Formats: sequence, C-alpha cells, structure tokens
Amino acid sequence: MSKATKRREALIYHAKPRPGKIKIVPTKKYSTQRDLALAYSPGVAEPCLEIEKNVENVYKYTIKGNLVAVISNGTAVLGLGDIGPEASKPVMEGKGLLFKIFADLDGIDIELDTKDVDKFVETVKTIAPTFGGINLEDIKAPEAFEIERRLKEELDIPVMHDDQHGTAIISAAALLNALEIAEKKIEDVRIVISGAGAAAVSCTRLYKAFGARSENIVMLDSKGVIRKDRENLSAEKLEFATDRKIDTLEEALKDADVFIGLSIANIVSPEMLLSMSNDPIVFAMANPDPEIEYDLAINTREDIIMATGRSDHPNQVNNVLGFPFIFRGAMDVRATSINEEMKMAAVKALAELAKEPVPEQVNIAYGETRLTFGRDYIIPKPFDPRLIGSVPPAVAKAAMDSGVAKAPITDWEAYKEDLLQ
Ligand code: NAP
Ligand code: MG
Repeated sequence: MSKATKRREALIYHAKPRPGKIKIVPTKKYSTQRDLALAYSPGVAEPCLEIEKNVENVYKYTIKGNLVAVISNGTAVLGLGDIGPEASKPVMEGKGLLFKIFADLDGIDIELDTKDVDKFVETVKTIAPTFGGINLEDIKAPEAFEIERRLKEELDIPVMHDDQHGTAIISAAALLNALEIAEKKIEDVRIVISGAGAAAVSCTRLYKAFGARSENIVMLDSKGVIRKDRENLSAEKLEFATDRKIDTLEEALKDADVFIGLSIANIVSPEMLLSMSNDPIVFAMANPDPEIEYDLAINTREDIIMATGRSDHPNQVNNVLGFPFIFRGAMDVRATSINEEMKMAAVKALAELAKEPVPEQVNIAYGETRLTFGRDYIIPKPFDPRLIGSVPPAVAKAAMDSGVAKAPITDWEAYKEDLLQ
C-alpha cells in the first residue's frame, strides 16, 4: 500500500461514518415516562442523597468506578512532539477505544490547554471527583514527572503516566524473559540505556526494582554517556550517572549484555552489536524507527534477542499490553494509587503468561502457526484473550497486599469469571 493510500485510509477511518472513535451510550432503560422519572428528576435525587450521606456511594450509583480520564496537553504526542491539545485528541480517543475493547473500562479523553504545571495539576484535581482513575498521556518531560508526582500525592484514585510506566512494565516483562532465555541474572548483567527521557528513566527505575545494579548501568542522552562528572545534570539524569570514564555509545556497548533504546532511530551499528556479549538482549524501542533496524540486527547476530516498538516484527513492546489491565485491576479494588508492588505484579503476570502454551485463536489472529516461548516470543500478544484474566487479578491482589485497596476482593473465582465475560 502506498503512503498516500495509507494516509487516506487513516483519515477516512477517523472521519466516517461519524467523526471520532468513541461515543456515549445509556446503560439503563429510557423508553417510558417512568424510566425517565427514574433516570432524571425526581428519581435521580435518591442516589444524590445517598452519595451526600456517604461519598463512597458514588461508586455504587454512578459510572465513576469504571471511568478513566485520559488526560493530555498535547506536548509530547507519539513521536510528533508538541502538536497542541486538539491535535492530540485522536490519540487520546484511541486510548478510550483500547480501554473499552481490552478491559471494558470507559475511557474519556480530556485535552487541557495549558503547559503550566500548577495549572495542569489544579485542573485535574478539580475534575477528579468524576473519575475512578487518571491516565496521564503524552506530556513532555520534565513537566510530566512533576505532574504525575503531585497528582499521585494529592489524589486518592489511581494515577499513572502511561508513557513512563506502561513502557517500563512491558519492557521489564520482556527483559525478565529474555534474561531467562539467555540464562543470565538481572543482578549481573551490564545494561546500556540510550535515552534519558520519560520512558528511559522509568524503565531503568523498574529494572532496578527487579535487581539491576546501578554500577552495571550506563545511560546516554543526546550528549553522550551521562557521567557523574558532567555539569548541569537534572535530578533524574544524576540518578543514573556512571563513574565509568567513557563517553560514547560505542564504548558503552562493548561487552554489554543488554541494550535498551528509548531515544532515536539508527544510532546502533552492526559493529557495536558485534562488540556486545553473548546472547545480547537488544530492545530498540524508538518509534517509529528503532535504534537499529530489526532485519539488520538479526542478520548481524544469530544469538540476539530482539524487541522493538513495531507491530511488523516479533516481540513488540506495546503499551496496550499494560494500561487497560492495570487500571482494570486497580479500579476493581478501588486502589488509592498504582504503586511499585502493583506494577511489579503486572510485570510478573505478563512474563509468566508468555511461558504458557498459546491458544490457537492467538496464533490465528497473528497469522502464526506455533507461537512458543523463545527468542521470537518473549511477551504476550495484545489480542491474547487470557490477558484480562491474568493481569488485573495480579494487580488487584498486589494492591490488597500492599494496603492500598479500599474495596478488597473476597471471591476470586467470581471476580475472574466476571473479567472473562
Ligand atoms: P523524551 O522524553 O523526549 O526523551 C528522549 C530522550 O532521547 C532524551 O533524553 C534525549 O536526550 C535522548 N536522545 C536524543 N538523541 C539521542 C541520541 N543520539 N542518543 C541517545 N539519546 C538521545 O521521549 P520518551 O517519551 O522518553 O521517548 C523516547 C523514545 O522512545 C521515542 O522514540 C519513543 O517513540 C520511544 N518509546 C517507545 C515506546 C514503545 O516502544 N512502547 C514507549 C515509549 C517511548 P536529551 O535528554 O539530551 O534531550
Ligand atoms: Mg503515549
């Protein structure tokens, strides 16, 4: 298909038969006068009064517990940059669609016309009573860090900046499985991270939570290796600065076990790959074009374990494996936050699922004959119907165990059955 045809197809998809990708539909009867008297005045006053008496009743009588706000200011949209709130709307509506089809959550997009951190935080806090969860999206770093930190502190519903944690969770699951295949331990491996932005920082933090050691990590930004002796480092960069006296990606990759790319296209050469240790793990996740092209990488080394952000190659690190299921589990126990324990539970559930035999319908959906755990299949596929039954319960349980669940689940069998419906 030519580029022009693809472009036209995408535009028609969004415009027809009605503009946009989501709509709101009633969930109650509305055909008689009696129905309307219940739906609106006077009947509606009864739940209002119940909620006034006890605010937790809002979960019993309204959509709040199933409603996620997807909130952006359009400052870091896909790889397109700062394109403004209106231009980000198709992406945010797209997330609404994904929340719906993968986890039956109602995701509504909200685009804010502000780049000011205080104003952003204040606005989200003001509208928070409406929602059961807040998915922050495509907000530029470093503002995104502060916005998320403050909202997590000040709100008692799950808040997650997906660009940071989504990628971290999926890639950590892929990393654990890749290490298992390479027969290496996370505590021992030398990890090179290219990029020091929103995604790279939160990925590296999560890998450390799983045991990766600071002294084994080298991070690079657009100026090269982030060394401790470099001047004017941000707090986030300083956190991952190295003592090693090296400056370039080429030097960093020598004998490294893992390369994590969250930067820009085509910066890793075949020579650099060849200088890595045995069974190198290469997650080249820059979108749309990876740090090294997939075919070039796998033709350079047979022992490579490779993942990208793209759907046209094996091992796609795709956020859709995470956010619908993480919010589902968090919101089902009315978690007051999405904490490290819950993220780690999601990682383990995803990693474990990839090791289970793959149902035939997944093979069919992806035109595969036999997906099996191995170099070309280290993370589950988004259309795997088992995700909904495995990730949300793991997240919900972690919320309960870590003491942030306001509505703990008691009947797990019933809960899982409910999820699979
Ligand atoms: P970001 O916050 O803008 O960060 C980009 C980082 O890349 C910055 O730290 C920048 O350095 C660094 N960089 C630029 N040129 C570089 C170079 N030549 N070598 C090393 N680092 C370089 O963006 P982000 O949200 O973290 O995303 C980064 C990339 O990851 C994008 O391509 C994005 O599409 C991709 N991504 C993929 C997935 C996925 O596959 N699922 C998920 C998230 C992000 P400075 O700090 O010096 O500017
Ligand atoms: Mg995003």
